[in-house]
Amino acid sequence: MPDYDVIVVGAGNAAFAAALSAKENGAEKVVVLEKAHKGMRGGNTHWSGAIFRMAFDKAEDLKPFLPGVEEKYLNFYDGIEPYTKERFWSDLNRVTQNRTDKELAEVLIDNSYDTVKWATEIAEIPCEPATSVCGIKVNGQWTFPGGVVVRAVHEGVGLSSCWFAAAEKAGIEIRYGSGATELVQDNNGRVTGVVTKEDNDSKTITANAIILACGGFEANAQWRAQYLGAPWDHAKVRGSSYNQGDGLRMALAIGALPWGQWSGRHSTPIDADWSDFADRKLTDKSNRLSYPFSIMINRKGLRFLDEGEDTNMYTYAKFGAQILNEPGSKAYQIFDQKTIQHLEPRYSTASPLIADTFEELVEMMDIDDKPTALKTINEYNKCAQSDDHFDPTQKDGVSTEGLALPKTNWAIKIDNPPYHAYPATGGITFTFGGLKVNPEAQVIGTDWRPIPGLYTAGEMVGGLFHYNYPGGSGLVSGQVFGRIAGRNAAKETA
Ligand SMILES: Cc1cc2nc3c(=O)[nH]c(=O)nc-3n(C[C@H](O)[C@H](O)[C@H](O)COP(=O)(O)OP(=O)(O)OC[C@H]3O[C@@H](n4cnc5c(N)ncnc54)[C@H](O)[C@@H]3O)c2cc1C
Repeated sequence: MPDYDVIVVGAGNAAFAAALSAKENGAEKVVVLEKAHKGMRGGNTHWSGAIFRMAFDKAEDLKPFLPGVEEKYLNFYDGIEPYTKERFWSDLNRVTQNRTDKELAEVLIDNSYDTVKWATEIAEIPCEPATSVCGIKVNGQWTFPGGVVVRAVHEGVGLSSCWFAAAEKAGIEIRYGSGATELVQDNNGRVTGVVTKEDNDSKTITANAIILACGGFEANAQWRAQYLGAPWDHAKVRGSSYNQGDGLRMALAIGALPWGQWSGRHSTPIDADWSDFADRKLTDKSNRLSYPFSIMINRKGLRFLDEGEDTNMYTYAKFGAQILNEPGSKAYQIFDQKTIQHLEPRYSTASPLIADTFEELVEMMDIDDKPTALKTINEYNKCAQSDDHFDPTQKDGVSTEGLALPKTNWAIKIDNPPYHAYPATGGITFTFGGLKVNPEAQVIGTDWRPIPGLYTAGEMVGGLFHYNYPGGSGLVSGQVFGRIAGRNAAKETA
Protein backbone atom coordinates (compact mmCIF):
# COMPACT_ATOMS: atom_id res chain seq x y z
CA MET A 1 0.00 0.00 0.00
CA PRO A 2 1.42 3.39 -0.91
CA ASP A 3 1.62 6.04 1.82
CA TYR A 4 -0.75 8.36 -0.03
CA ASP A 5 -3.19 8.37 -2.92
CA VAL A 6 -1.68 11.54 -4.36
CA ILE A 7 1.49 13.50 -3.56
CA VAL A 8 1.56 17.13 -4.69
CA VAL A 9 5.01 18.74 -4.70
CA GLY A 10 4.77 22.49 -4.04
CA ALA A 11 2.30 24.71 -2.19
CA GLY A 12 1.39 27.47 -4.62
CA ASN A 13 -1.71 28.14 -6.68
CA ALA A 14 -1.21 25.21 -9.07
CA ALA A 15 -0.45 22.76 -6.26
CA PHE A 16 -3.58 23.57 -4.30
CA ALA A 17 -5.80 23.51 -7.39
CA ALA A 18 -4.38 20.02 -7.99
CA ALA A 19 -4.69 18.84 -4.38
CA LEU A 20 -8.28 20.04 -3.95
CA SER A 21 -9.26 18.66 -7.33
CA ALA A 22 -7.78 15.26 -6.39
CA LYS A 23 -9.77 15.33 -3.15
CA GLU A 24 -12.94 16.36 -4.94
CA ASN A 25 -12.50 13.48 -7.36
CA GLY A 26 -12.18 10.79 -4.74
CA ALA A 27 -8.55 10.69 -3.59
CA GLU A 28 -8.64 10.24 0.16
CA LYS A 29 -5.06 10.66 1.29
CA VAL A 30 -3.57 13.72 -0.37
CA VAL A 31 -0.37 15.39 0.80
CA VAL A 32 1.22 18.69 -0.17
CA LEU A 33 5.01 18.93 0.21
CA GLU A 34 6.24 22.49 0.79
CA LYS A 35 10.02 22.98 0.71
CA ALA A 36 9.74 26.30 2.53
CA HIS A 37 9.14 26.55 6.25
CA LYS A 38 5.73 27.79 7.27
CA GLY A 39 6.78 31.45 7.44
CA MET A 40 7.89 31.42 3.80
CA ARG A 41 5.18 29.18 2.38
CA GLY A 42 3.15 29.69 -0.77
CA GLY A 43 5.63 30.28 -3.60
CA ASN A 44 5.23 33.08 -6.13
CA THR A 45 1.50 32.85 -5.60
CA HIS A 46 1.98 34.73 -2.30
CA TRP A 47 3.87 37.55 -4.09
CA SER A 48 1.47 37.81 -7.02
CA GLY A 49 -1.02 40.53 -7.86
CA ALA A 50 -3.61 37.69 -8.01
CA ILE A 51 -5.17 38.97 -11.23
CA PHE A 52 -7.05 36.33 -13.20
CA ARG A 53 -7.28 36.61 -17.01
CA MET A 54 -10.29 34.72 -18.29
CA ALA A 55 -12.56 34.64 -21.32
CA PHE A 56 -16.18 35.78 -20.97
CA ASP A 57 -18.89 36.69 -23.47
CA LYS A 58 -20.57 39.53 -21.64
CA ALA A 59 -19.66 41.84 -18.78
CA GLU A 60 -22.39 40.40 -16.54
CA ASP A 61 -20.66 36.99 -16.66
CA LEU A 62 -18.31 38.44 -14.04
CA LYS A 63 -21.13 38.84 -11.51
CA PRO A 64 -20.40 35.59 -9.64
CA PHE A 65 -16.91 36.91 -8.86
CA LEU A 66 -17.91 40.41 -7.82
CA PRO A 67 -21.09 40.28 -5.73
CA GLY A 68 -22.35 43.76 -4.84
CA VAL A 69 -19.77 45.56 -6.98
CA GLU A 70 -22.35 47.93 -8.43
CA GLU A 71 -23.05 49.36 -5.01
CA LYS A 72 -19.45 50.56 -4.77
CA TYR A 73 -18.75 51.37 -8.43
CA LEU A 74 -21.48 53.18 -10.29
CA ASN A 75 -22.48 51.47 -13.58
CA PHE A 76 -19.56 49.09 -13.11
CA TYR A 77 -20.46 46.69 -15.92
CA ASP A 78 -20.76 49.53 -18.49
CA GLY A 79 -16.96 49.89 -18.36
CA ILE A 80 -16.20 46.26 -19.18
CA GLU A 81 -15.89 44.95 -22.69
CA PRO A 82 -16.54 41.25 -23.32
CA TYR A 83 -13.33 39.27 -23.55
CA THR A 84 -14.22 36.39 -25.82
CA LYS A 85 -12.17 33.25 -26.32
CA GLU A 86 -11.21 34.67 -29.72
CA ARG A 87 -9.75 37.79 -28.08
CA PHE A 88 -7.81 35.69 -25.56
CA TRP A 89 -6.46 33.62 -28.48
CA SER A 90 -5.51 36.71 -30.38
CA ASP A 91 -3.67 38.25 -27.38
CA LEU A 92 -1.85 35.02 -26.58
CA ASN A 93 -0.80 34.54 -30.19
CA ARG A 94 0.29 38.16 -30.57
CA VAL A 95 2.45 38.42 -27.46
CA THR A 96 4.04 34.99 -27.98
CA GLN A 97 4.65 35.71 -31.68
CA ASN A 98 2.46 32.71 -32.55
CA ARG A 99 4.74 30.35 -30.66
CA THR A 100 2.24 29.34 -27.97
CA ASP A 101 1.55 25.58 -27.85
CA LYS A 102 -1.83 25.52 -29.59
CA GLU A 103 -3.05 22.34 -27.93
CA LEU A 104 -2.32 23.63 -24.42
CA ALA A 105 -3.50 27.16 -25.23
CA GLU A 106 -6.87 25.75 -26.22
CA VAL A 107 -7.14 23.95 -22.88
CA LEU A 108 -6.16 27.13 -21.04
CA ILE A 109 -8.55 29.43 -22.86
CA ASP A 110 -11.53 27.06 -23.05
CA ASN A 111 -11.36 26.31 -19.34
CA SER A 112 -10.31 29.73 -18.06
CA TYR A 113 -13.72 31.04 -16.94
CA ASP A 114 -15.11 27.78 -15.52
CA THR A 115 -11.90 26.96 -13.71
CA VAL A 116 -11.48 30.36 -12.05
CA LYS A 117 -15.11 30.06 -10.96
CA TRP A 118 -14.41 26.57 -9.59
CA ALA A 119 -11.24 27.72 -7.80
CA THR A 120 -12.83 30.77 -6.22
CA GLU A 121 -15.71 28.61 -5.00
CA ILE A 122 -13.77 25.60 -3.74
CA ALA A 123 -11.18 27.74 -1.93
CA GLU A 124 -13.66 30.49 -1.00
CA ILE A 125 -11.50 33.20 -2.57
CA PRO A 126 -13.19 36.60 -2.35
CA CYS A 127 -12.53 38.78 -5.40
CA GLU A 128 -12.61 42.48 -6.28
CA PRO A 129 -12.03 44.61 -9.38
CA ALA A 130 -8.30 44.99 -10.16
CA THR A 131 -8.59 48.76 -10.19
CA SER A 132 -5.12 49.78 -9.01
CA VAL A 133 -3.14 47.78 -11.60
CA CYS A 134 -5.48 47.26 -14.56
CA GLY A 135 -8.25 49.85 -14.20
CA ILE A 136 -8.39 53.31 -15.72
CA LYS A 137 -10.97 55.82 -14.53
CA VAL A 138 -12.29 58.12 -17.24
CA ASN A 139 -14.94 60.71 -16.31
CA GLY A 140 -15.88 58.72 -13.22
CA GLN A 141 -16.26 55.40 -15.09
CA TRP A 142 -13.79 52.55 -14.46
CA THR A 143 -12.64 50.73 -17.59
CA PHE A 144 -10.38 47.69 -17.86
CA PRO A 145 -8.19 46.38 -20.68
CA GLY A 146 -9.43 43.08 -22.09
CA GLY A 147 -9.84 40.13 -19.77
CA VAL A 148 -8.09 41.40 -16.65
CA VAL A 149 -10.82 42.69 -14.37
CA VAL A 150 -10.94 40.31 -11.41
CA ARG A 151 -8.36 39.72 -8.69
CA ALA A 152 -8.34 38.10 -5.27
CA VAL A 153 -8.94 40.39 -2.31
CA HIS A 154 -5.55 41.16 -0.64
CA GLU A 155 -3.92 39.99 -3.89
CA GLY A 156 -1.47 37.09 -3.65
CA VAL A 157 -1.37 37.16 0.14
CA GLY A 158 -5.15 36.70 0.23
CA LEU A 159 -5.14 34.12 -2.54
CA SER A 160 -2.44 32.01 -0.92
CA SER A 161 -4.01 32.06 2.52
CA CYS A 162 -7.38 31.00 1.06
CA TRP A 163 -5.69 28.02 -0.64
CA PHE A 164 -4.00 26.90 2.57
CA ALA A 165 -7.21 27.29 4.58
CA ALA A 166 -9.24 25.34 2.02
CA ALA A 167 -6.69 22.52 1.94
CA GLU A 168 -6.64 22.27 5.72
CA LYS A 169 -10.44 22.25 5.80
CA ALA A 170 -10.51 19.46 3.20
CA GLY A 171 -8.17 17.31 5.31
CA ILE A 172 -5.16 17.63 3.00
CA GLU A 173 -1.91 17.12 4.89
CA ILE A 174 0.72 19.84 4.43
CA ARG A 175 4.33 18.92 5.19
CA TYR A 176 6.40 22.08 5.66
CA GLY A 177 10.16 22.07 5.22
CA SER A 178 9.79 19.07 2.91
CA GLY A 179 11.82 19.57 -0.27
CA ALA A 180 11.45 16.82 -2.86
CA THR A 181 14.80 15.87 -4.37
CA GLU A 182 14.13 12.80 -6.51
CA LEU A 183 11.36 10.86 -8.22
CA VAL A 184 11.08 7.15 -7.51
CA GLN A 185 10.05 4.70 -10.27
CA ASP A 186 9.14 1.03 -10.33
CA ASN A 187 10.58 -1.46 -12.80
CA ASN A 188 8.00 -0.47 -15.41
CA GLY A 189 8.94 3.19 -15.28
CA ARG A 190 5.86 4.18 -13.31
CA VAL A 191 6.48 7.04 -10.87
CA THR A 192 5.60 5.67 -7.46
CA GLY A 193 6.96 8.22 -5.03
CA VAL A 194 9.43 10.94 -4.15
CA VAL A 195 12.50 11.24 -2.02
CA THR A 196 12.09 14.32 0.14
CA LYS A 197 14.42 16.07 2.56
CA GLU A 198 12.86 16.79 5.94
CA ASP A 199 14.85 17.89 9.01
CA ASN A 200 18.11 16.90 7.31
CA ASP A 201 16.71 13.40 6.78
CA SER A 202 15.93 11.89 3.39
CA LYS A 203 12.62 10.05 3.35
CA THR A 204 10.94 8.13 0.58
CA ILE A 205 7.19 8.53 0.45
CA THR A 206 4.98 6.71 -2.02
CA ALA A 207 1.67 7.34 -3.79
CA ASN A 208 -0.45 6.19 -6.71
CA ALA A 209 0.26 9.44 -8.54
CA ILE A 210 2.64 12.39 -8.19
CA ILE A 211 1.89 15.96 -9.26
CA LEU A 212 4.83 18.32 -9.63
CA ALA A 213 3.77 21.93 -9.04
CA CYS A 214 6.95 23.38 -7.60
CA GLY A 215 7.60 26.36 -9.87
CA GLY A 216 10.24 27.37 -12.41
CA PHE A 217 13.94 28.18 -11.98
CA GLU A 218 13.75 31.97 -11.60
CA ALA A 219 15.40 31.92 -8.16
CA ASN A 220 18.40 29.88 -9.34
CA ALA A 221 21.25 32.18 -10.46
CA GLN A 222 23.24 29.38 -12.06
CA TRP A 223 20.30 28.12 -14.13
CA ARG A 224 19.46 31.70 -15.11
CA ALA A 225 23.01 32.16 -16.41
CA GLN A 226 22.87 28.78 -18.13
CA TYR A 227 19.50 29.11 -19.85
CA LEU A 228 18.73 32.84 -20.02
CA GLY A 229 22.32 34.04 -20.42
CA ALA A 230 24.08 37.05 -18.90
CA PRO A 231 23.14 39.30 -17.17
CA TRP A 232 20.16 37.29 -15.89
CA ASP A 233 22.31 35.75 -13.17
CA HIS A 234 22.36 39.29 -11.72
CA ALA A 235 18.60 39.87 -11.89
CA LYS A 236 16.69 40.50 -8.69
CA VAL A 237 13.91 38.01 -8.04
CA ARG A 238 10.38 39.40 -7.69
CA GLY A 239 9.00 36.40 -5.84
CA SER A 240 9.89 33.31 -3.82
CA SER A 241 13.51 32.26 -3.22
CA TYR A 242 12.50 28.58 -3.22
CA ASN A 243 11.76 28.10 -6.93
CA GLN A 244 15.14 26.68 -7.89
CA GLY A 245 14.08 24.39 -10.72
CA ASP A 246 13.95 21.30 -8.47
CA GLY A 247 10.87 19.82 -10.11
CA LEU A 248 12.27 20.35 -13.59
CA ARG A 249 15.57 18.75 -12.61
CA MET A 250 13.86 15.73 -11.05
CA ALA A 251 11.62 15.20 -14.05
CA LEU A 252 14.38 15.67 -16.64
CA ALA A 253 16.46 13.14 -14.71
CA ILE A 254 13.88 10.42 -15.45
CA GLY A 255 13.49 11.35 -19.11
CA ALA A 256 10.80 14.05 -19.17
CA LEU A 257 10.76 16.13 -22.33
CA PRO A 258 11.81 19.78 -21.96
CA TRP A 259 9.30 22.05 -23.72
CA GLY A 260 8.80 25.71 -24.56
CA GLN A 261 11.18 28.65 -24.48
CA TRP A 262 13.94 27.77 -22.02
CA SER A 263 15.65 31.11 -22.72
CA GLY A 264 12.40 32.97 -22.03
CA ARG A 265 11.24 34.68 -18.87
CA HIS A 266 8.87 37.28 -17.57
CA SER A 267 10.46 40.39 -16.11
CA THR A 268 9.52 43.95 -15.23
CA PRO A 269 11.15 47.23 -14.23
CA ILE A 270 11.45 47.19 -10.43
CA ASP A 271 13.08 49.35 -7.78
CA ALA A 272 16.87 49.01 -8.10
CA ASP A 273 17.27 49.38 -4.34
CA TRP A 274 15.35 46.19 -3.50
CA SER A 275 17.33 43.19 -2.28
CA ASP A 276 18.08 40.09 -4.38
CA PHE A 277 14.77 38.50 -3.34
CA ALA A 278 11.62 40.56 -2.95
CA ASP A 279 10.35 41.45 0.51
CA ARG A 280 7.63 39.02 1.59
CA LYS A 281 5.54 41.76 3.21
CA LEU A 282 5.78 44.21 0.30
CA THR A 283 5.20 41.41 -2.26
CA ASP A 284 4.90 42.97 -5.75
CA LYS A 285 5.23 46.59 -4.62
CA SER A 286 8.68 46.79 -6.22
CA ASN A 287 7.18 47.50 -9.66
CA ARG A 288 8.17 50.78 -11.30
CA LEU A 289 5.79 50.92 -14.25
CA SER A 290 4.92 54.62 -14.61
CA TYR A 291 7.90 55.22 -16.89
CA PRO A 292 5.74 56.34 -19.86
CA PHE A 293 5.42 59.65 -18.01
CA SER A 294 9.18 59.90 -17.39
CA ILE A 295 12.41 59.83 -19.28
CA MET A 296 14.78 57.03 -18.38
CA ILE A 297 18.52 57.63 -18.20
CA ASN A 298 21.22 55.00 -17.87
CA ARG A 299 24.56 55.24 -16.06
CA LYS A 300 26.18 56.70 -19.17
CA GLY A 301 23.70 59.56 -18.91
CA LEU A 302 21.80 58.46 -22.02
CA ARG A 303 18.23 57.55 -22.87
CA PHE A 304 18.10 54.07 -24.41
CA LEU A 305 14.47 53.36 -25.36
CA ASP A 306 11.23 55.09 -26.33
CA GLU A 307 9.54 55.39 -22.91
CA GLY A 308 6.28 56.32 -24.63
CA GLU A 309 6.20 53.49 -27.18
CA ASP A 310 2.93 52.16 -25.76
CA THR A 311 0.96 51.93 -22.53
CA ASN A 312 2.96 50.14 -19.86
CA MET A 313 0.98 46.87 -19.98
CA TYR A 314 2.38 46.27 -23.47
CA THR A 315 5.97 47.32 -22.80
CA TYR A 316 6.84 46.50 -19.20
CA ALA A 317 7.93 42.90 -19.78
CA LYS A 318 10.46 43.82 -22.47
CA PHE A 319 11.60 47.08 -20.81
CA GLY A 320 12.50 45.12 -17.66
CA ALA A 321 14.92 43.10 -19.77
CA GLN A 322 16.24 46.21 -21.55
CA ILE A 323 17.04 47.99 -18.28
CA LEU A 324 18.81 44.88 -17.02
CA ASN A 325 21.03 45.01 -20.10
CA GLU A 326 22.09 48.63 -19.50
CA PRO A 327 25.42 49.35 -17.71
CA GLY A 328 25.15 48.31 -14.07
CA SER A 329 21.63 46.99 -14.89
CA LYS A 330 20.24 50.32 -13.76
CA ALA A 331 18.34 53.34 -15.04
CA TYR A 332 16.69 56.38 -13.47
CA GLN A 333 13.09 57.40 -14.17
CA ILE A 334 12.80 61.20 -13.94
CA PHE A 335 9.48 62.96 -13.26
CA ASP A 336 8.40 66.51 -12.46
CA GLN A 337 5.37 67.85 -10.57
CA LYS A 338 3.13 67.60 -13.66
CA THR A 339 3.55 63.86 -13.93
CA ILE A 340 4.25 62.80 -10.36
CA GLN A 341 0.51 62.69 -9.62
CA HIS A 342 0.16 59.87 -12.18
CA LEU A 343 2.61 57.49 -10.51
CA GLU A 344 0.98 54.19 -9.63
CA PRO A 345 0.57 53.68 -5.87
CA ARG A 346 3.40 51.15 -5.70
CA TYR A 347 5.93 54.02 -6.05
CA SER A 348 5.14 54.92 -2.45
CA THR A 349 7.47 52.09 -1.32
CA ALA A 350 10.48 53.95 -2.82
CA SER A 351 12.74 56.74 -1.58
CA PRO A 352 13.29 58.88 -4.68
CA LEU A 353 16.06 61.41 -5.16
CA ILE A 354 14.47 64.87 -5.07
CA ALA A 355 15.99 68.19 -6.20
CA ASP A 356 14.95 71.62 -7.45
CA THR A 357 17.45 71.69 -10.31
CA PHE A 358 18.70 69.08 -12.75
CA GLU A 359 22.29 69.85 -11.71
CA GLU A 360 21.49 68.90 -8.11
CA LEU A 361 19.47 65.86 -9.19
CA VAL A 362 22.18 64.48 -11.47
CA GLU A 363 24.80 65.06 -8.77
CA MET A 364 22.88 62.71 -6.47
CA MET A 365 22.42 60.03 -9.11
CA ASP A 366 24.70 56.97 -9.42
CA ILE A 367 25.75 57.97 -12.94
CA ASP A 368 29.22 57.71 -14.47
CA ASP A 369 28.83 60.52 -17.00
CA LYS A 370 26.96 63.35 -15.28
CA PRO A 371 27.60 66.06 -17.95
CA THR A 372 26.05 63.76 -20.56
CA ALA A 373 23.05 63.16 -18.29
CA LEU A 374 22.46 66.91 -18.02
CA LYS A 375 22.82 67.30 -21.78
CA THR A 376 20.33 64.46 -22.35
CA ILE A 377 17.70 66.03 -20.08
CA ASN A 378 18.13 69.48 -21.63
CA GLU A 379 18.00 68.17 -25.20
CA TYR A 380 14.87 66.18 -24.38
CA ASN A 381 13.23 69.30 -22.97
CA LYS A 382 14.08 71.29 -26.13
CA CYS A 383 12.30 68.68 -28.28
CA ALA A 384 9.37 67.92 -25.91
CA GLN A 385 5.91 69.56 -25.95
CA SER A 386 3.68 71.52 -23.59
CA ASP A 387 1.12 69.53 -21.61
CA ASP A 388 -1.89 70.95 -23.51
CA HIS A 389 -2.69 67.61 -25.17
CA PHE A 390 -1.19 65.29 -22.54
CA ASP A 391 -3.57 62.39 -21.79
CA PRO A 392 -2.33 59.79 -19.30
CA THR A 393 -5.26 57.45 -19.96
CA GLN A 394 -4.29 56.55 -23.52
CA LYS A 395 -1.58 56.92 -26.16
CA ASP A 396 -1.84 60.69 -26.73
CA GLY A 397 0.50 61.06 -29.71
CA VAL A 398 2.36 63.88 -27.90
CA SER A 399 5.79 63.14 -29.31
CA THR A 400 9.23 64.73 -29.25
CA GLU A 401 10.33 66.47 -32.41
CA GLY A 402 13.89 66.18 -33.66
CA LEU A 403 15.36 63.68 -31.21
CA ALA A 404 17.36 60.80 -32.69
CA LEU A 405 15.68 58.54 -30.14
CA PRO A 406 12.14 59.91 -29.96
CA LYS A 407 9.65 59.56 -27.15
CA THR A 408 6.44 58.99 -29.11
CA ASN A 409 3.71 59.54 -26.51
CA TRP A 410 3.39 61.58 -23.30
CA ALA A 411 6.51 63.55 -24.33
CA ILE A 412 5.88 66.68 -22.29
CA LYS A 413 8.60 68.94 -20.93
CA ILE A 414 10.07 68.10 -17.54
CA ASP A 415 10.22 71.63 -16.19
CA ASN A 416 8.14 71.84 -13.02
CA PRO A 417 10.40 71.22 -9.98
CA PRO A 418 11.05 69.65 -7.61
CA TYR A 419 12.21 66.78 -9.81
CA HIS A 420 12.04 63.16 -8.67
CA ALA A 421 14.37 60.35 -9.82
CA TYR A 422 13.55 56.69 -9.15
CA PRO A 423 16.29 54.05 -9.69
CA ALA A 424 15.01 51.00 -11.61
CA THR A 425 16.40 47.65 -12.62
CA GLY A 426 14.97 44.58 -14.36
CA GLY A 427 13.46 42.04 -11.96
CA ILE A 428 12.68 38.45 -12.95
CA THR A 429 9.17 37.12 -12.29
CA PHE A 430 9.18 33.57 -13.63
CA THR A 431 10.71 31.40 -16.34
CA PHE A 432 8.91 30.09 -19.43
CA GLY A 433 10.81 26.84 -20.04
CA GLY A 434 9.12 23.74 -18.67
CA LEU A 435 8.00 20.21 -19.35
CA LYS A 436 5.93 18.88 -22.20
CA VAL A 437 2.46 17.86 -20.98
CA ASN A 438 -0.57 16.61 -22.86
CA PRO A 439 -4.04 18.13 -22.35
CA GLU A 440 -4.52 15.66 -19.46
CA ALA A 441 -1.56 17.30 -17.63
CA GLN A 442 0.45 14.07 -17.92
CA VAL A 443 4.19 14.63 -18.25
CA ILE A 444 5.48 13.42 -21.60
CA GLY A 445 8.82 11.64 -21.88
CA THR A 446 11.53 11.98 -24.52
CA ASP A 447 9.94 8.91 -26.14
CA TRP A 448 6.83 11.11 -26.67
CA ARG A 449 4.75 8.89 -24.38
CA PRO A 450 3.23 9.87 -21.01
CA ILE A 451 5.37 8.96 -18.00
CA PRO A 452 2.93 6.83 -15.97
CA GLY A 453 1.92 8.30 -12.63
CA LEU A 454 3.46 11.74 -13.25
CA TYR A 455 1.59 15.04 -13.77
CA THR A 456 2.58 18.69 -13.66
CA ALA A 457 0.98 22.13 -13.48
CA GLY A 458 1.73 25.83 -13.07
CA GLU A 459 5.06 27.39 -13.97
CA MET A 460 6.44 23.91 -14.71
CA VAL A 461 4.23 23.53 -17.81
CA GLY A 462 6.28 24.45 -20.86
CA GLY A 463 5.14 25.81 -24.19
CA LEU A 464 2.39 28.28 -23.36
CA PHE A 465 4.48 31.43 -23.05
CA HIS A 466 7.26 32.63 -25.35
CA TYR A 467 8.96 36.08 -25.42
CA ASN A 468 6.15 37.66 -23.42
CA TYR A 469 2.90 36.71 -21.76
CA PRO A 470 -0.55 38.23 -21.39
CA GLY A 471 -0.64 39.50 -17.77
CA GLY A 472 -2.87 37.46 -15.46
CA SER A 473 -2.48 34.18 -17.40
CA GLY A 474 -0.01 32.47 -15.03
CA LEU A 475 -2.41 31.84 -12.18
CA VAL A 476 -5.22 30.76 -14.48
CA SER A 477 -2.91 28.32 -16.25
CA GLY A 478 -1.95 26.89 -12.84
CA GLN A 479 -5.58 26.44 -11.87
CA VAL A 480 -6.59 24.92 -15.21
CA PHE A 481 -3.78 22.35 -15.43
CA GLY A 482 -3.74 21.81 -11.66
CA ARG A 483 -7.43 20.96 -11.66
CA ILE A 484 -6.99 18.55 -14.58
CA ALA A 485 -3.91 16.95 -12.99
CA GLY A 486 -5.73 16.44 -9.69
CA ARG A 487 -8.74 14.89 -11.39
CA ASN A 488 -6.61 12.45 -13.36
CA ALA A 489 -4.31 11.64 -10.45
CA ALA A 490 -7.37 10.75 -8.35
CA LYS A 491 -8.42 8.25 -11.03
CA GLU A 492 -5.13 6.40 -10.56
CA THR A 493 -6.15 5.47 -7.02
CA ALA A 494 -9.03 3.35 -8.31
C1 LIG B 1 5.50 39.80 -8.08
C2 LIG B 1 4.66 38.85 -8.91
C3 LIG B 1 3.40 39.26 -9.36
C4 LIG B 1 2.61 38.38 -10.12
N1 LIG B 1 1.34 38.75 -10.46
C5 LIG B 1 0.55 37.87 -11.14
C6 LIG B 1 -0.82 38.17 -11.41
O1 LIG B 1 -1.35 39.21 -10.98
N2 LIG B 1 -1.52 37.26 -12.14
C7 LIG B 1 -0.99 36.09 -12.60
O2 LIG B 1 -1.68 35.31 -13.25
N3 LIG B 1 0.29 35.77 -12.32
C8 LIG B 1 1.06 36.62 -11.59
N4 LIG B 1 2.34 36.27 -11.29
C9 LIG B 1 2.82 34.95 -11.72
C10 LIG B 1 2.25 33.90 -10.77
O3 LIG B 1 2.56 34.28 -9.45
C11 LIG B 1 2.81 32.52 -11.06
O4 LIG B 1 2.57 32.19 -12.40
C12 LIG B 1 2.13 31.48 -10.16
O5 LIG B 1 2.09 31.88 -8.81
C13 LIG B 1 2.88 30.17 -10.26
O6 LIG B 1 2.21 29.24 -9.47
P1 LIG B 1 2.87 27.84 -9.20
O7 LIG B 1 1.92 27.14 -8.28
O8 LIG B 1 3.27 27.21 -10.46
O9 LIG B 1 4.23 28.18 -8.43
P2 LIG B 1 4.48 28.89 -7.05
O10 LIG B 1 3.30 29.67 -6.59
O11 LIG B 1 5.76 29.63 -7.18
O12 LIG B 1 4.66 27.69 -6.03
C14 LIG B 1 5.78 26.83 -6.10
C15 LIG B 1 5.83 26.07 -4.79
O13 LIG B 1 6.76 24.99 -4.86
C16 LIG B 1 7.55 25.00 -3.68
N5 LIG B 1 8.77 24.23 -3.99
C17 LIG B 1 9.81 24.55 -4.79
N6 LIG B 1 10.68 23.52 -4.86
C18 LIG B 1 10.17 22.51 -4.09
C19 LIG B 1 10.60 21.20 -3.77
N7 LIG B 1 11.74 20.71 -4.24
N8 LIG B 1 9.82 20.44 -2.95
C20 LIG B 1 8.67 20.94 -2.42
N9 LIG B 1 8.22 22.19 -2.70
C21 LIG B 1 8.96 22.96 -3.53
C22 LIG B 1 7.70 26.46 -3.37
O14 LIG B 1 8.13 26.69 -2.07
C23 LIG B 1 6.25 26.92 -3.61
O15 LIG B 1 5.44 26.58 -2.52
C24 LIG B 1 3.12 37.11 -10.49
C25 LIG B 1 4.37 36.70 -10.02
C26 LIG B 1 5.13 37.55 -9.22
C27 LIG B 1 6.46 37.06 -8.69
